Parts: sequence; C-alpha cells; structure tokens
Amino acid sequence: MMKNNIEDMTLKEVQYLIKRIEKGTLDESRDKEESQPKKENGQRLVLKLIEEFGELAENIRKNTRFDGQNIKGTIEEEAFDVFYYIIAIANYYEIDLEKIFYIKDELNKVKYEREFSIYEAREKWKNIIENKKNKKEEGK
Ligand SMILES: [Mg+2]
Repeated sequence: MMKNNIEDMTLKEVQYLIKRIEKGTLDESRDKEESQPKKENGQRLVLKLIEEFGELAENIRKNTRFDGQNIKGTIEEEAFDVFYYIIAIANYYEIDLEKIFYIKDELNKVKYEREFSIYEAREKWKNIIENKKNKKEEGK
C-alpha cells in the first residue's frame, strides 16, 4: 500500500488530478491539443460512465469487496471508476463541483426538509478533524 504525508485531497484537487490524467500530461501548455472533437469527447465520457455503472452493478450483485490486496473486480474499483468519470464529465463541461455543491444544497435542504446545511456539516467536520489533531498531539 502507498503511504504518504500529503494532506487529504480537496474536491478542487481531485478535479485537477483527473484533468491531468485525461489530458495525459502535466504540461498545461499542451491542454489545447484536442485529439477528438469536443462533443464526441463528452459522449465518450458518458458512455464510459454508463459502462462503469454496469461493472459496479455486477460487483454489487456478486458482493466482491476489496480485501486490501487485489482491487481488480471489486465494488471499490468500480465505485472509483464511476467517480472518476463523473469528475471527468464535470471537468469537460468546466463545472466547479464545489460551487455546485453549495448551490444544489440550498435546493436539497428545502426539498428533503433537512435540518442542516452543508455549511453546518462542514463546521462539524472541522471539529472532528480538530479533535483528531488534538488527540494526536496529546499522544505525543
Ligand atoms: Mg471499471
């Protein structure tokens, strides 16, 4: 297993990482080189997403889980693949998913009569992280 000391990924970072993978280069000056017409690429990504959803469904039916050794043919692998193409599609349409998260949350909070917003959930998350850090400090 890979182990590193890099901070947790943010949504913006994940979008950037998948953008780099899709572009096939870390050299941003080459981003304009488009090998396929724009519309075709958007359709390719949606087809890949549907394909990965099928694989996810199959592994859920078989309940094949990642055992920490081989991820091939597991729910974990396919959940990642679905996630990857969702992000790739967002990138393709230049969607800032974090921004949309807040906008959509306003609608969903009302629609589902949820008693908290994602702002409040984030405060809770910050507390959890803060408490973890403090516990680590105490343990030293
Ligand atoms: Mg797959």
